[in-house]
Amino acid sequence: MFDHEMLIGSDFVAGAAAAEQVLNPKTGALLIDLPEASVEQVDAAVEAASRAFTAWSRTTPAERSRLLLKLADAIEAAAEDFATLEALNCGKPRIRVLQDEIPAIADCFRFFAGAARTMHGAASGEYVANHTSMIRRDAIGVVASIAPWNYPLMMAAWKLAPALAGGNTVVIKPSEQTPLTLLRLAKIIAGIFPAGVVNVVTGRGQSVGNALIHHPKVAMVSLTGDIGTGKKVLQAATGTVKRTHLELGGKAPVIVFDDADLASVVEGVKVFGYYNAGQDCTAACRIYAGKKVYDKLVADLSSAVKSLKFNQPNDDDNDLGPLISARQQQRVAAFVERAAAQKHIEVTAGGRAGSGSGFFYEPTVVAGALQADEIVQREVFGPVVSVTRFDDADEALRWANDSEYGLASSVWTQDISRGMAAAAQLQYGCTWINTHFVLTSEMPHGGLKSSGYGKDLSMYALEDYTVARHVMVKLG
Ligand code: NAD
Repeated sequence: MFDHEMLIGSDFVAGAAAAEQVLNPKTGALLIDLPEASVEQVDAAVEAASRAFTAWSRTTPAERSRLLLKLADAIEAAAEDFATLEALNCGKPRIRVLQDEIPAIADCFRFFAGAARTMHGAASGEYVANHTSMIRRDAIGVVASIAPWNYPLMMAAWKLAPALAGGNTVVIKPSEQTPLTLLRLAKIIAGIFPAGVVNVVTGRGQSVGNALIHHPKVAMVSLTGDIGTGKKVLQAATGTVKRTHLELGGKAPVIVFDDADLASVVEGVKVFGYYNAGQDCTAACRIYAGKKVYDKLVADLSSAVKSLKFNQPNDDDNDLGPLISARQQQRVAAFVERAAAQKHIEVTAGGRAGSGSGFFYEPTVVAGALQADEIVQREVFGPVVSVTRFDDADEALRWANDSEYGLASSVWTQDISRGMAAAAQLQYGCTWINTHFVLTSEMPHGGLKSSGYGKDLSMYALEDYTVARHVMVKLG
């Protein structure tokens, strides 16, 4: 029923090592026992990518663009199947995958198909007498791409599209928890791209991921995942001096000034704090509310959040799905329990695991949180939003920046000057004003501090997946 074979070169092969269970998070039921790649198979995938590199990196941008556009079309044509599979493997409401994720995935491939044809050197001229210099941007080599479980197909697209557009070959590993859509995509990819340009291997991080990040023929590792995993990638990279591209966690501050349009804030946080059950590194999860609006915001947000629907028999009625695993469910519950045990905290919505065998957790609001609290400082990666009261703008900005993370942030105010002044001071890869979470292929996504570095999407990603080279000609 499910595609279960990996793509190595032009061959579809079953993993030769131990099997991992892939579950349906809505029910906890087993979907498939999926064998992971052996070390020899990881090696074969990297070798296939390495062999394919010379020819692929010399294709014209127009040719790479043509194939990326074909892939985008094929994904759109199979949108219903992909949505069904992603919803099954991740527990997401199917309609959200179909309406939000698949169009963004197709657009990502189309953006990089166009971008591939616009790359140019920044300068050419005579910087030394009788010598002409020019700058080329060239492919790097074999890229090992390691994806997380929260948006399996979309993160694969974010990694594959710029790497391929730039002329690299790829070995990509999905999360062991959510491999099904990428295995389906591999079938489509094999019909479009030359053998070895894209290879897909399955398995756990500590085995297959570890073999990839240490492989001497891997020139660059691109990871979206946990900070701890990012540190392992950095340690492994020292062995053969690999390039690294790290999209790690987030803990987005949401600064709500006293003059904000509260109805928009409530509607925004209701959507952007709980989308994908909060399993989103940009989730609007850490609210700082001005002292005049704090009480009303907590009251209105709590009642709005209580109206969010999950675990409904008709999937189209669901605003959010379950967490990805029992482990993640327990982790989220433990965060809320530890927060609730503090006297100054009030859980004003949710606060419990859902009933049944699925990994649901109620959309939750934790009010009265203080800056030093764990719930304010650490990434929960679940449907949990904290609210903290601030006295003035300096305090709000200081607290917002007082974080290990630096990925996304937002500011809500009706005074655009105040919003712009705050945006200038926030140490985050992105700051939204009067919205949150809106991404577009043309704009870069990526972090500062422990959220990592390197950009997804935009021309900046294409720069990250290529290298600037100097060519000089002696005249006469
Ligand atoms: P994770 O780090 O556990 O796993 C991510 C990937 O890394 C998986 O494919 C996993 O198998 C692999 N991996 C794990 N250990 C490895 C190792 N030792 N060597 C090589 N590969 C290894 O993270 P996760 O639990 O899948 O994802 C959740 C995390 O990802 C959260 O912290 C979240 O914030 C972050 N995330 C960040 C972004 C972003 O754009 N910044 C997007 C999505 C998720």
